[in-house]
Order: sequence, then structure tokens, then C-alpha cells
Amino acid sequence: MAKQPMLKFVTVPRDMPEKRGADERRTDFHEIYAEYADEKAKEQASRCSQCGVPYCQSHCPLHNNIPDWLNLTATGRLQEAYEISQATNTFPEICGRICPQDRLCEGNCVIEQSGHGTVTIGSVEKYITDTAWEKGWVKPIKPAQERPESVGIIGAGPGGLAAADMLRRAGVQVTVYDRYDRAGGLLTYGIPGFKLEKDVVKRRNEQLEAGGVTFVMNCNVGEDISFEDIRAKHDAVLIATGVYQSRDLGGPGAGSAGIVKALDYLTASNRAANFGDSVPEFESGELNANGKKVVVIGGGDTAMDCVRTAIRQGAESVKCLYRRDRANMPGSQREVQNAEEEGVQFEWLTAPKGFTEKGGKVAGVMVQKMRLGAPDATGRQSPEPIEGADYVEDADLVIKALGFEPEDLPKLWGVDGLEVTRWGTIKAEFTTGKTSLDGVFAVGDIVRGASLVVWAIRDGRDASEAILDYLNQPAAVAAE
Ligand SMILES: Cc1cc2nc3c(=O)[nH]c(=O)nc-3n(C[C@H](O)[C@H](O)[C@H](O)COP(=O)(O)OP(=O)(O)OC[C@H]3O[C@@H](n4cnc5c(N)ncnc54)[C@H](O)[C@@H]3O)c2cc1C
Ligand code: SF4
Repeated sequence: MAKQPMLKFVTVPRDMPEKRGADERRTDFHEIYAEYADEKAKEQASRCSQCGVPYCQSHCPLHNNIPDWLNLTATGRLQEAYEISQATNTFPEICGRICPQDRLCEGNCVIEQSGHGTVTIGSVEKYITDTAWEKGWVKPIKPAQERPESVGIIGAGPGGLAAADMLRRAGVQVTVYDRYDRAGGLLTYGIPGFKLEKDVVKRRNEQLEAGGVTFVMNCNVGEDISFEDIRAKHDAVLIATGVYQSRDLGGPGAGSAGIVKALDYLTASNRAANFGDSVPEFESGELNANGKKVVVIGGGDTAMDCVRTAIRQGAESVKCLYRRDRANMPGSQREVQNAEEEGVQFEWLTAPKGFTEKGGKVAGVMVQKMRLGAPDATGRQSPEPIEGADYVEDADLVIKALGFEPEDLPKLWGVDGLEVTRWGTIKAEFTTGKTSLDGVFAVGDIVRGASLVVWAIRDGRDASEAILDYLNQPAAVAAE
């Protein structure tokens, strides 16, 4: 009888790829996890229990065929594993690196529920596609036939790029407009290199360009070209502009120098550390933590990226203030652990009340101690202040990482009839991305609010199908 290649979770323990030591990784911006060696990837994939109803798959926003590509990896059929993996995911090696797997696929792995430790799905996904790139299995985009219709995509983040990829493969003429100088959106300028090295994004951008996608960079829609001009140039338009308006903090001293926005800080760091760009605000020290006492306010993934960036820039100390406790923070527990290993101190149950300053520059954060009170309407315990427990936390750089909101696009772009929700996100059908304007679709964070890369990819793929349906209706295009 053939040997059973799977279900090894009882005998083979869970093993992540090797993680570099904290002392080493504090000094650079390279990824912290190594690649699996071939045998290790096979072994770890063989732990999958091949469930009849795979919960990992149903909790992956892309419904990746995880048990199938784990089985193919375990049995050495890696090229087939890659074919199956890329059939449902435009950027599997990116998701393998940065999806919060503990909340998605891996968080629903049944062998985890039985106490054996989840299959390392993300790491195997990354291994499969990195190997495919290395072996030349990732083929250039070559449409079987060209189509005359064109689609304008505003925003070169994962949502826009996933749609560009699908539409171009179908032969559509695709132009992507972006206000930055490099494509990738937050993959390029938001997420630091220690989570996602920039060459991984760059080779995808180059693949799209080589496949015939036209990129119009340094083009801020609403300023350099109007939305109506883009609409007039193309048969359909996709809005994938993300959310960039930072939530702010008030209180005394809130306008002091040295209190900066997370995304300004991370963008400057990504430009300087990963691309070697000259960034005046980084060079002047304004957006550089070197030698400073840094306080980051917030408990999400952006805050985790800021604290870990500050460590790498050589901060004197890095503290993170969050108003709930560890169990109730929105950021990934894996990232908190990485940050702690690297030397970040977390001050749980603390909220800023204001700032002290010296000569116009921030000198400290006035901190209010909190406790968790009764659950709110969502069942989450609300933080409430503890009277008489305030203190001042010394700081000469304060980074605000409190989340993002959408810009008011209809107003910024002067567009009538583009409906938005009460949160300011664009009103679009979730399964198609159709907006209130004919031939205009929207995807990613600008529809969902700040979300995840994997959801932006899912939206981009869904919308591309809806756009193809739209282009296939002769009346829609002829009606221009
Ligand atoms: C610091 C940080 C860390 C994160 N870490 C993770 C993580 O680890 N895992 C994860 O899954 N998600 C993470 N996210 C969330 C994730 O990055 C986003 O959900 C995802 O990038 C959204 O994709 P998008 O295509 O909708 O928008 P974006 O990636 O924001 O791309 C939008 C693009 O539109 C362009 N644009 C905007 N307005 C205009 C205009 N008027 N004209 C022209 N171009 C315009 C922008 O320049 C940008 O390139 C993180 C987010 C941040 C901020
Ligand atoms: S795309 Fe994300 S959620 Fe889906 S299998 Fe990969 S890592 Fe898991």
C-alpha cells in the first residue's frame, strides 16, 4: 500500500521558517523570516489533515485551495502546487508574507483546534511562489488576443494592480494612474521592508508593465488630470485609491513639533531605507527616530510597523501606548511578540490626554491610565479613565497611529453623482465594485475602509470580472 503522505500533524511538530535573532534584525530592514528549505516545506505541508470541509479555505478571503496545494507540495509536485495557488491569488507570495494568518486561514485550521499547532499555511504559500519565480514558472502576461476597450485604474495599490492583472490577461488595454512615483500603494510605501521586501513588489510591477499595462505615475487625479478626463478616455474606470486621511489627536500641545503622522513617518523610512531616496524630512531628523525617546500611540498593525521601524532607526527607547489591553488590541499578536523581542515596551491601558512641550517641541505625552469597563454595543469592553493616575511619559518623537479615513473624493474630484457612505467610503456593490456612476467601479480600502491586502486583491479580481461583463454589453460602450 502506498505510504500516506499527509496527516503528519501528530508526529511532526509545527515549525515556522527560521527567524533571525532580535539583535541582528534590529539593525536592518530585511525580512525576519528565512525561506523554508525544500524538505522542511514538504514536511510542514504534510501536516495538513486534508479536511473534507476545509475551514482554512473558507476563511481565506480568496478561497485559496489550500489543502490541494499543501498536498502537492508534500508530494514534491511543486509546479502544480504553484499553478493551483496562483489560480485564485494574484500575489500569493505577498499574502504568504503579510496576511494576518492567525485571524484568517491558520486561525481556522482544525489541527490547531485539537492542540497540535496550525499548519504554517502562509509560509508554505510564500515558499511555493518564491520557488516559482526562481525556477521561471511565473510566466509573462500574454493575452490570447487584444481587445480594443480600455480601462483606467486610479491607484496602483494591491486592489488596482490585481484588477489590472486580470483585465490585461483578458486582452483589455489598461492604464494605471497613481500620484506616487512607484507602483504598489501601501505595499511599497506603507508596509516596512522587514515584513515585505520591496523587490518582491517590484518584480510584480515589472511583470505587469512587461505584460502591457501602462503606468502613469506622479499623476494626482483631481490635480494633474480630472476624473472626468479619465472617464472620457476609457470605456470603464476603477477607483482604487485607498484611505489616507489620518485620525488625529487633540488636547494641549497637540500642535507641537515632533508629533508626526504614522504614514508620513513610514513613507519617509521606506523611501530612505529601501530605495535610498533623498528625503529631506528624514535627513533633518524630523521623521527619523535615531537617538530619540519615541512614543507611538495606537494598537493596530500600523503602530506595530512604527515601533519596529523606530527600533531599526536607532531610537534611544520605544514605547507604545494603547488604551485597551494586549488581548483586546487590533494588531496581530505575532507582530507584538516580534516587537517585544526587538525591545519595544508596551504600555497597555493608557491614553494620551495632551502633550508637554519645550520651546515649541514636544517633550512628553500626558498619559491617562485606563481600565476596561462594561462591554459596548459590539460586546467589546470600553476603556474608561482611572482618576488620579495620570503621569507624563518623556518623548521627543511622538507618532500618531490611530487609523485612517477616506478622503472626500466627490468633493476633491468635483464629481456629481458618486455616492459615498456615511463613513465617507465609496458606495459600491461588494461582489462587483459597481458604483452609482455608469461604468465606474471601486475596490479596496476606499470601499471597505482600512482593511487588508488580501481583501483588496479579492475586490480587484471580482471587479475585473464585473468590468469585463460591462465591456461585453455592446450598449454600455456604444452609449458613450
Ligand atoms: C502601515 C500599514 C501596514 C499595513 N500592514 C498590513 C499587513 O501587514 N497586512 C495586510 O494585509 N494589510 C496591511 N495593511 C493594510 C493594507 O496595506 C491595505 O488594506 C491595502 O494596501 C489596501 O489596498 P488598496 O489597493 O485599496 O489601497 P492602497 O494600497 O492604499 O493603494 C492606493 C493607491 O492609490 C493612490 N492614490 C490615492 N489617491 C490618488 C489620486 N487622487 N490620484 C492618483 N493616485 C491616488 C495611492 O498613491 C496608492 O498608491 C497595512 C496598512 C498600513 C497603513
Ligand atoms: S491569502 Fe492569506 S488568508 Fe489566504 S491562504 Fe494565503 S495567507 Fe492565508
